Amino acid sequence: MKAIVDRDTCISCGLCASICPNVFEMDDEQIATVIVDTIAPEDEASAQEAADQCPVAAITIEE
Ligand code: SF4
Repeated sequence: MKAIVDRDTCISCGLCASICPNVFEMDDEQIATVIVDTIAPEDEASAQEAADQCPVAAITIEE
């Protein structure tokens, strides 16, 4: 499972990095960035929750 953030859509709310810090981090421009190539099994549920909770649906989860 992989996560992708659409940088043009992200509004820098920080929610994803707060919900799933093992996968998402805010970069120097305060845009969410994905810090792992493949999401660890134990992080999949929280990564999916972050995607579901993103207020602008900027996160895509791929199998
Ligand atoms: S939850 Fe969405 S809008 Fe908020 S920082 Fe993450 S990707 Fe950006």
